[in-house]
Amino acid sequence: MATEVKRSQTHHFKVQHFIDGQFVDGGPRFPIIYPATGEEIGTAPAGGQAEVDAAVAAARRAFGVWGKMKPSERRQVLHRFADAIIAHGDELARLETLDVGRPIRDNGRPYIERAAANIRFFADFAAMLPSEAYPMENGYINYVLRHPVGVAGLITPWNVPLLLETWKIGPALAFGNTVVLKPAEWTPLAAWKLAQLAQEAGLPPGVFNVVHGYGPDSAGEFLTRHPGVNLISFTGETVTGQIIMANAAPTLKRLSFELGGKGANIVFADADFERAVEVSIRAAFFNQGEFCLAGPRIFVERSLYDRFLAAFVERARAIRVGDPMDPETQMGALINHEHLNRVMGFVERAVQNGAKVLTGGKRLALPAPLDGGSFMEPTVIVDVGPEDEICQREVFGPVVTVTPFDDEAEVIEWANGTQYGLSAVVQTSNVRRAHRVAAQLQVGTVWVNDFFVRDLRVPFGGMKYSGIGREGGHYSLEVFTEAANICIAV
Ligand code: NAD
Repeated sequence: MATEVKRSQTHHFKVQHFIDGQFVDGGPRFPIIYPATGEEIGTAPAGGQAEVDAAVAAARRAFGVWGKMKPSERRQVLHRFADAIIAHGDELARLETLDVGRPIRDNGRPYIERAAANIRFFADFAAMLPSEAYPMENGYINYVLRHPVGVAGLITPWNVPLLLETWKIGPALAFGNTVVLKPAEWTPLAAWKLAQLAQEAGLPPGVFNVVHGYGPDSAGEFLTRHPGVNLISFTGETVTGQIIMANAAPTLKRLSFELGGKGANIVFADADFERAVEVSIRAAFFNQGEFCLAGPRIFVERSLYDRFLAAFVERARAIRVGDPMDPETQMGALINHEHLNRVMGFVERAVQNGAKVLTGGKRLALPAPLDGGSFMEPTVIVDVGPEDEICQREVFGPVVTVTPFDDEAEVIEWANGTQYGLSAVVQTSNVRRAHRVAAQLQVGTVWVNDFFVRDLRVPFGGMKYSGIGREGGHYSLEVFTEAANICIAV
């Protein structure tokens, strides 16, 4: 354990932008902080208008070639990119932990393979794309061609950088667009490494560019306002989405938004008990609860409530929080102290409002060198109403509420009773109930008796204030391609 922490201290990353196939500086440097120690482990440049202009110009030039390449040729290049991700899996896993503070065990083979699959899947999908035809009664034939849109601006958050960056890069490039990626300022390492791998895989210069920096009045905003950018695929907070939408309006960009969530986890009394507790723990505390798809609002049928709560609290207390580089660690550090303070604020206000903390609710002080880290105890809160702030707003930390319910109609109303509509979990052994309840939840994804299982063919996105549009499988065509109708006279 100590050696890994020490190693991170000695390493000082000098992250650069990746523009037109070159690693370059540009803009003032800002620190990269390792969440588990609070130490500076490197710096990254805050790109401004000049860097965004250069990256967009490079992407526009490259689009002339990449956009016209055969999908089968793009597929070959993208497979090399995916191979490079696998080959550098251990390093990417370590960088992701240094970026986010998530335990290294959660960045294992499945995580890296999923990142590579995000590239591979869409490379194959685009190369094998069928077309639709609409023969008319008068003999005319319509068919549909899919063109790339142009330059895609991809803007990503800090919580799962490697997954979300590849999730956007894969389809954008596979369908023939070129890319300018603006990763989150708190987590620049994954994107920096991905740029190195893209270069190694032989992506032509300008096809994939990375500009680091902040959001407002910085690289993020400049990208969303840039007339040379044709579409924005953004994942982040709902309020940021609202600002981006306004900034992108004058240049009429196509927008795809994956925004905040406040998932419900509904546990019926007939659920497989052990599994329900285990799934609920994962949905609550994976990635320190800093997860849009998390299930922080746990609703339990009243007859099971006491038994469930006792088991859940016991499991929450047993979670090993600590050095994210230790393979035994189950929960790491929150992204930084600023965010930890925000999460603690939610807990404090809930308590002032009459809620009871059954376990956790405090910062966790760990011995050096982790004493500067932003750790928090897994926190379980009861005695809250569905309308309370803690049940309505996205806390984005290891904090859950557990509330009893009496009947199906009531819990469906509560589950749907937030501005968000991203995902939910339903736990029951009754097949009919599972279908019935799942169909009534106003969310983009419902998991029945499990959590965070992803098939890249299915639509992914949120309803209400959780997003606009869907990505995944053929749904990504609506984001990353222009459909053209060709009508042939007889
Ligand atoms: P954020 O909105 O603060 O930042 C996301 C990205 O947008 C960052 O790269 C940031 O620099 C950039 N940005 C900020 N202001 C901008 C502006 N005015 N113009 C252009 N870019 C701007 O979000 P965050 O705190 O990094 O991430 C957490 C949020 O992301 C949570 O709300 C979470 O639910 C959401 N999220 C959603 C999904 C999903 O799939 N729906 C997945 C992961 C995270």
